[in-house]
Amino acid sequence: MKRALITGISGQDGSYLAEYLLSLNYQVYGLVRREPRAIRWLETVRDSVELIFGDLRDATSLEVAFRKSWPDEVYNLAGQVFVPTSWECPAETFDINVGGLARLLQIVTRQKPDTRVYQASSSEMYGNVDGFCNEHTPFKPASPYGTSKMAAHALVQTYRDRGMFAVGGILFNHESPRRGPEMVTRKITRAAAEWGRGDRSKLKLGNMQAKRDWGFAGDYVRAMHAMLQQPAPKDYVIGTGESHSVAEFVSEALSELHRMGADGNLFGSVEECVEVDSRLVRPNEIHNLRADARLARKELNWTPSVDFRGLVKLMVESDFASITKPPRRRIESSTERATASA
Ligand code: GDP
Repeated sequence: MKRALITGISGQDGSYLAEYLLSLNYQVYGLVRREPRAIRWLETVRDSVELIFGDLRDATSLEVAFRKSWPDEVYNLAGQVFVPTSWECPAETFDINVGGLARLLQIVTRQKPDTRVYQASSSEMYGNVDGFCNEHTPFKPASPYGTSKMAAHALVQTYRDRGMFAVGGILFNHESPRRGPEMVTRKITRAAAEWGRGDRSKLKLGNMQAKRDWGFAGDYVRAMHAMLQQPAPKDYVIGTGESHSVAEFVSEALSELHRMGADGNLFGSVEECVEVDSRLVRPNEIHNLRADARLARKELNWTPSVDFRGLVKLMVESDFASITKPPRRRIESSTERATASA
């Protein structure tokens, strides 16, 4: 039975990866900063994984987690992932995203150097590029977040050059019903769920023309695992190869509500339901990101199973169902209530 340690197990990617690795009969350990009581999707795997308290900023806690899990594979998915926050807190973003990886790599080197390491690299490392990005496209990040991911990616390469099996998966935007509500896709599908119930409030968004290569997170965790099963360590780009604008995402969400036959008195057009708020427009915007994932298709045999329309459908349906359903269980303590409403 293989053993895996996942940092960020309570996040979107961590939870899908945990489910996937359990289905492959792994023994799964997850690093968490606090008891993740109100995270619904973790309930499905809660009894099958072992959660260990720790923080990427605290080397001692990482060492304890490593010794406890004694992993064959480490998936470093935890991080500060929101671009605007990285402008507010650049040093903290670096401490978590780069320092955290450095601490982990040092522990692996000292304790169990044959452990295979997956690092969550990001398409934000590219910045503004014309056309598709592959493993050879130069990086020119446009935010402290992108720069931190680029530094971490370089660190992976440095340790790989010294003999470690370490890879950086350059994942383009990947979404799901478990996506954080601050990211644009989830912000839209949560608003859409309210529109489907008859709410006529407008959603405030920033740049409607920005385009992203949006895929389904559940597909992307298969690629993470496949990278660590290769005969030699190598970085791979993962994405669908298609990009769509924020406006198209809203439009598709509206179409989905119509297809679902939602009861509400629905908005007819994107302009009717969105208000552009200049404070949400990013000064250093990345205008378009598109993946060239041919290497992953060829060597990892990886293809996405959910397309853009399927992704929007999945997310709108889930958010719509969750506001029509009663709460899953009674919220007991005030701490839990605070976490649940966050
Ligand atoms: P990112 O690609 O990692 O920055 O993912 P986000 O989901 O945060 O943003 C994707 C794109 O949507 C970026 O180009 C944002 O500028 C754009 N966008 C437009 N309005 C919003 C908004 O209200 N919130 C967020 N998060 N992004 C927005």
